[in-house]
Amino acid sequence: MSLSLGSGTRNLRKLLAMNQILLERLCGVVGADHVLTDMDLGAYEEDWNRRARGKALAVVRPADTVQTAQVIRICADAGVGLVPQGGNTGLNLGAIPDGSGTQVVLSTKRMNAIRAIDVANLTATVEAGCVLQTLQEAARAHNLLFPLSLAAEGSCTIGGNLATNAGGTQVLRYGNARELCLGIECVTAAGEVWNGLTALRKDNTGYDLRNLMVGSEGTLAIITAATLRLYPLPRTQTTAWVALPGIHEALRLLQRAQSILGPSLSGFEIIGREPVEQVGRHFAELARPCGDSSTPWFVLMDVWNNLDDGRAREEVESLLAGALESGEAHDAVIATSQAQSAKLWRIRESIPEAQARDGLNIKHDISVPVSALPDFVMELQSVLAAAVPGARFMTFGHMGDGNLHYNLQAPFGADADAFRARYERQVNGLVYEHVARFGGSFSAEHGIGSHKVEQLASSKSPTALWMMRGVKQALDPRGILNPGKVLG
Ligand SMILES: Cc1cc2nc3c(=O)[nH]c(=O)nc-3n(C[C@H](O)[C@H](O)[C@H](O)COP(=O)(O)OP(=O)(O)OC[C@H]3O[C@@H](n4cnc5c(N)ncnc54)[C@H](O)[C@@H]3O)c2cc1C
Repeated sequence: MSLSLGSGTRNLRKLLAMNQILLERLCGVVGADHVLTDMDLGAYEEDWNRRARGKALAVVRPADTVQTAQVIRICADAGVGLVPQGGNTGLNLGAIPDGSGTQVVLSTKRMNAIRAIDVANLTATVEAGCVLQTLQEAARAHNLLFPLSLAAEGSCTIGGNLATNAGGTQVLRYGNARELCLGIECVTAAGEVWNGLTALRKDNTGYDLRNLMVGSEGTLAIITAATLRLYPLPRTQTTAWVALPGIHEALRLLQRAQSILGPSLSGFEIIGREPVEQVGRHFAELARPCGDSSTPWFVLMDVWNNLDDGRAREEVESLLAGALESGEAHDAVIATSQAQSAKLWRIRESIPEAQARDGLNIKHDISVPVSALPDFVMELQSVLAAAVPGARFMTFGHMGDGNLHYNLQAPFGADADAFRARYERQVNGLVYEHVARFGGSFSAEHGIGSHKVEQLASSKSPTALWMMRGVKQALDPRGILNPGKVLG
């Protein structure tokens, strides 16, 4: 007896055969050990926050730029979407595949070499999969500083940092990843390598392709290497933790610190009472260093100096003494050792982990002009407190850059998922309306990914969207690079 196959079954067989050919071709380029299909791909398919999980056809791990170009050509031939992934610490679902099981994740983890450090030119050329902390340590070994610094630095990669134009805690002095990047090497959607690894500080020769790639979240090309700025390693670090009666006082302290300390002020972080208490609950050794449980706001500031003459410390002491005397600060501590500085920073850096332990909250990564930040926070807080009774305000961020991680956590004892399901849409609407009214950005650091596609479409002007679509169409006409991300 013979069975006739339905067209659905025939299509499925054809698809499986095509996938088989694709996987064999990929194995031919990177080796079978680096085309992952049947092991647990969870770590590549799920985002850091465990907010979403996709399904990949395969994970491919090329060893170098040449292999990356070949992988892209094979996927382009087959019309298969590619999702670049570095450390998978991104917070907007940009590095995971969709749920279709048809996209290939291209992991850059094997391309992790530091190709060169030019001490006299103050530059490092590194591959995309190099972990940020590895580069920081390599620079330090030469008495140099790579200043990009963020809580995920032990896992995130230079490629991911550039693709998201990462910020972090030293932007005030050194800028975002974009400002730290002099040159880029990348592979286009057609599988062509562009070697733009210039180490020049001045180069006005046509459109700035490097800056187009920075912040493009893997939708325009796959970054394979970059030449980055280094700085002389500061000789002293003065770190202070300050307890404040209000957020307006934090702005006044920032203004005074900037005028007294100038560019030595490298970090100025604001942290609300709730996140400080939350960190203390989850990490007993990181209890609040000063102030009490009624202190509404804290500032963590860092001053880096290239002279080791004690003057920076004296200036910080006199700045804080003035603030205490005038009542603009309640309490303050200044670290007396490197270990104490590191401990103060650990409190700040442990906030994301402490929040994750309390269940996923309603997250925002927004910015407003620094001068407007206190009014923005106070106005929004009163609106949200009325709209979402009992919600905990997990507000913290890079005040010196006007950038806040403005998160709302479920009330104590409430179910985090039910809280998000009930309030996320309403809260987002209120937050983004306020952000727009204050001339701010709905995504200051983390990009768009697939999570904020709708918000981008509704916030950007038609002209801006038309230009962005034109760029995408020119560089990736078949839409194989990170499909569904940024422009949707
Ligand atoms: C605890 C924690 C703290 C954080 N703090 C900050 C912070 O202070 N400031 C900040 O800006 N971000 C922060 N982030 C977000 C995130 O860590 C950074 O955006 C980081 O730069 C992402 O790097 P990654 O290698 O993990 O990239 P991934 O998550 O792997 O990818 C992020 C995006 O870049 C694309 N991509 C990755 N590699 C490449 C490549 N080689 N070529 C092209 N596209 C690529 C991906 O497709 C995706 O769209 C934090 C995240 C966590 C978990």
